[in-house]
Amino acid sequence: MQFLESFKPELTVESPGRINLIGEHTDYNMGFVLPTAIEKKIIFEFKKNGTQNNCNVYSKTFDTGFELNLNALDKSAIEWENYILGVLNEISKRTDKLRGFDCTIVSNLPTGSGLSSSAALECGLAYGLNELFELGLSKMEMVKLSQIAEHTYAGTQCGIMDQFASVMSVEGHVLLLDCRSLEYKPIPINLHPYKLILLNTKVSHNLASSEYNTRKKECEEGVAVLKKDFSEVNSLRDVSIEMLESVKERISETVFNRCSYIIAENKRVHNLAEALTENNLELVGQILYEAHDGISRLYKVSCPESDFLVDFSKWNSNVLGARQTGGGFGGCTLNIVHENGVDDFIKTATEAYKEKFNICLEAFEVKPSAGTTCYVN
Ligand code: ADP
Ligand code: MG
Repeated sequence: MQFLESFKPELTVESPGRINLIGEHTDYNMGFVLPTAIEKKIIFEFKKNGTQNNCNVYSKTFDTGFELNLNALDKSAIEWENYILGVLNEISKRTDKLRGFDCTIVSNLPTGSGLSSSAALECGLAYGLNELFELGLSKMEMVKLSQIAEHTYAGTQCGIMDQFASVMSVEGHVLLLDCRSLEYKPIPINLHPYKLILLNTKVSHNLASSEYNTRKKECEEGVAVLKKDFSEVNSLRDVSIEMLESVKERISETVFNRCSYIIAENKRVHNLAEALTENNLELVGQILYEAHDGISRLYKVSCPESDFLVDFSKWNSNVLGARQTGGGFGGCTLNIVHENGVDDFIKTATEAYKEKFNICLEAFEVKPSAGTTCYVN
């Protein structure tokens, strides 16, 4: 693209990916989650280009870019462009201060691996344009408009967690977030002498987006039946296991399983936050294994590759716990591993995984990190 030849950026934004320690699929059920940003991130560079409406966006990661007009923000046939267009469309509804800009994007955050590169892309763009054109949007407005962009342009009915974690995280902490009130509490996380190790399965089954929306519908189906008996119920957040049992005859086994997973998972979020506070790392690990079991058997958003790696970790005494993290059907498993056993764990898991699936996994440590940062060049 021509603008790249003489591009002198004014502003840099670092927009991180995230892991979620626990609380998977609870966000759109108005429950609790425990995510944090990680050091892997998307870096944006921005410059106003002096035009009224013409914008250029180039992804160095994908080695491709596109030109767009702020007055014509229709959906694109090209997937990644929709994250950009969706955010611009939402910003345009809220302010008329947006003008032409040029932007490059580069990333060390794996895409489609459950680390929420999509939220990092949306929120980083919103954050940068907010600074560049002094739009006056609050962080929460940027979080929410990015979520809406993912619904409308990317077609995933995601909850608020990914965008919230990418923008709001605090270094050295996980965020205990109530997805209904949006109140949150940073909880210090100190796992020493253990480390958070991600194993990227390198598979992202295409099911992710469609099955995600199906899970959301199944939960809503359960809520609709529960609401007939318990008028106070607006989401699975308001439901106890006893209430669910009382309507068991009137819902399918599938819907029962989905709902019971969400109810248990919400409890696990609180239990894990407490275990962290008490520095009970054995319990943290045990809760992760329980959560994966629910993800795999009841909510059915795992896959053979993730299940294999979680099961494999159980044979290693240096691993306290593991589970698939992110929306599901692949992506990364999150493992709590003793620092003395990290190399051995990665080596043996890599070999076993290669032998079983003929795929080279990617392993790396993650550290709880700060949310979006921005600086003027
Ligand atoms: P996840 O959010 O788990 O990484 P998604 O499927 O939700 O997976 O989002 C990944 C999509 O986000 C990519 O397929 C691409 O469209 C977009 N994306 C992520 N990072 C970049 C990047 N650096 N450049 C362009 N598009 C990106
Ligand atoms: Mg995503």
